[in-house]
Amino acid sequence: MAKKGRVFSGARPTGRQHLGNYLGAIKNYVALQDDYDCVYCIVDLHALTTIETTADLKQNTYEMALDWLAAGIRPEETTLFIQSHVPQVTELHTILSMVTPLGKLTDLPTFKEKVRQNESNINYGLVGYPVLMTADIVLYRSDVVPVGIDQAPHIEFAREIVRSFNYRYNTKALLEPQMKNTEIPKVLGIDGKEKMGKSLNNHIELAATPDETRLRVMQMVTDPQRMRRTDPGNPDVCNVFSMHKIFTPAEDVEMINRECRVAGIGCVDCKKRFAENLNKSLEPFRARREEIGKTPNDVWDILHDGAKRARTIAEKTMADVREALQLP
Ligand code: SF4
Repeated sequence: MAKKGRVFSGARPTGRQHLGNYLGAIKNYVALQDDYDCVYCIVDLHALTTIETTADLKQNTYEMALDWLAAGIRPEETTLFIQSHVPQVTELHTILSMVTPLGKLTDLPTFKEKVRQNESNINYGLVGYPVLMTADIVLYRSDVVPVGIDQAPHIEFAREIVRSFNYRYNTKALLEPQMKNTEIPKVLGIDGKEKMGKSLNNHIELAATPDETRLRVMQMVTDPQRMRRTDPGNPDVCNVFSMHKIFTPAEDVEMINRECRVAGIGCVDCKKRFAENLNKSLEPFRARREEIGKTPNDVWDILHDGAKRARTIAEKTMADVREALQLP
């Protein structure tokens, strides 16, 4: 079946992936492969804007790629690669930076947020981040970019940069990417408050062992108003229940919803059930991860092969860009 176009998405190399990564991105990456020609990039250069040391960068890249592959990314049809393996992206970044007003970059709420988070390291790369992101997208002639509602302004900004370039150089060398509005669920961590993330240590790794997973689940915060086993609970405010809705068969979800409200089920039992269902759901992933992980070189080969394919597309785009610029 003919695919609908090309999708691009990138993510920083954060190592072993967690449930938040899976439900918020990877699951969608896997599904998109059925309809689109997918280009997925591990954006190591972006990571350099905030990390203090690169000591773990290679291992984190490997672990992340391994998780993506185990989750169902199909490298024979999807281009999976590392950003820095396609140097054309830095060339395009430089060129696009000349048509991007500095004031707009420093006005972006994301830049201000980054400045707040990295007070001791406000570097030039942080300002240019959206330009590098635009270069990532347009270098591979991407038709669409899957984004949640809060990321929509980034893509709109990328479209503005493309329009500026095409207008200034009277060309159609760069394609304006379209947004593919995607519902990205906010997955809360085991604290039940903040978004799941490694920095807050409130995450559950996909590749954790069943015992480790059980332990993390048992630490999950439930309905804060439910103090005793005999108190009725409210599943509507309980993160464990939100997770049940994703990983537990519908009839059990219904039972929990009903019984929790009348103290018919306790949180310990409820969490045990969730841990069991989660472990069961993750079984095939973990088996594939173990299998693929037996030959790490194959993972690197996949990434190198992906970069080769990505460079071919990138070089075509850059040939058009250089021609439009009339560089001597
Ligand atoms: Fe949450 Fe389950 Fe406890 Fe109800 S019984 S508060 S759904 S953990």
